[in-house]
Amino acid sequence: MTDHASSTIPGPIDPPRRLLMGPGPVDAYPGVLRAMSAPLVGQYDPFMTATMTETQELYRGVWGTTNDATLLIDGTSRAGIEAAILSLIRPGDRVLVPIFGRFGHLLAEISERAMAEVHTIETEWGQVFTPSAIEEAIVRVKPTLLALVQGDTSTTMLQPLDEIGEICARHGVLFYSDATASLGGNPFEADAWGLDAATAGLQKCLGGPSGSAPITLSDRAVEVISARKKVEAGIREPGDPSSPDFVRSNYFDLGMILDYWGPRRLNHHTEATSMLYAARECARLLLLEGRDAVIARHRRVGAAMLAGVEAMGLQVFGDVSHKMSNVVAVYIPEGVPGDVARAAMLEDFGIEIGTSFGPLHGKVWRIGTMGYNARPDAVLQTLVALEAVLRRFGAAVPSGAGVDAASDALAGS
Ligand SMILES: *Cc1c(COP(=O)(O)O)cnc(C)c1O
Repeated sequence: MTDHASSTIPGPIDPPRRLLMGPGPVDAYPGVLRAMSAPLVGQYDPFMTATMTETQELYRGVWGTTNDATLLIDGTSRAGIEAAILSLIRPGDRVLVPIFGRFGHLLAEISERAMAEVHTIETEWGQVFTPSAIEEAIVRVKPTLLALVQGDTSTTMLQPLDEIGEICARHGVLFYSDATASLGGNPFEADAWGLDAATAGLQKCLGGPSGSAPITLSDRAVEVISARKKVEAGIREPGDPSSPDFVRSNYFDLGMILDYWGPRRLNHHTEATSMLYAARECARLLLLEGRDAVIARHRRVGAAMLAGVEAMGLQVFGDVSHKMSNVVAVYIPEGVPGDVARAAMLEDFGIEIGTSFGPLHGKVWRIGTMGYNARPDAVLQTLVALEAVLRRFGAAVPSGAGVDAASDALAGS
């Protein structure tokens, strides 16, 4: 064994203080960080199983569902996406993905990996789909599954879902949505909107760290998943690898994960205990404040940020009437070096705002107000810093206009 000279061993972790006002991840609620430092217990400790059960019930409240199959997938948000798609889709099944931003492309890519026959429809970035455009594509493609992002942080758009479940039910299509960016900050009603599967992550409006993916599955989705399993001696087996029913992942095999979270607690993986505590606390805090109250807070604080950037003379990207309440994209003013200005926000003010992807790269910044950071003081601090940085780079920003407009919006709402 080599001995490291103590001078080469880094000190304990000591991150800088940041205010994370990008499109996620955001600062966690202090209580969530405290929950994560709670002592560990064994996997079959009665406390552990009781905490899993409690967390399932809390997330039924978050999702707006009575689904038994409401649980966590260990991993970041895309772990939830992979689990849902790999388990619901068999090779050759048709999947329809309406794409209105980067995460639609991700759903299509993961469906390709699940060996689905993937069909996409696209709309311009900054727009959403009408229910009739989606229905028309469903009639044409006849998919097994519709995979639709609710809120795409890449464009800030919020796809209305409330009429889509009824359309899917009428055409016998399973309805899945990725609600990672939107859940907790915008309405989501898994049961009332007829969702068969929905997944999320903690690092946006739920105010936790990334690393746990809440998921909820309708009884119909559970039937599809269960039908893929051979049951031997009461235990579901992965079955024949040459069969289309074989799920090409162990970690994301929802049939096995459901047995683990179900009453029999059949061991699958070692549940990520500290992330379970974090996810439980995110949901507990949300329900304690009240789901509608948290959504209203995101709406109020997001409207203040929007009023602030508009009053500064910044042009907002996309169809604002379909914007998520918790993120806004603004065009970088002419002549301002986007990355240098963003770095100045971070270095001089400790505030992170987001860059952009694809067609918007280098053109817009994305500013989020999510979870713990959906707060008036976080909005006002960000606007003060943004004004100072923009003026430094020569942009003609009216002095104090952003803060005044945001303050007025907060006072008026
Ligand atoms: C942010 C975001 C994700 C993030 O996925 P991770 O695996 O947690 O990085 C997924 N989907 C959507 C719609 C998002 O906005």
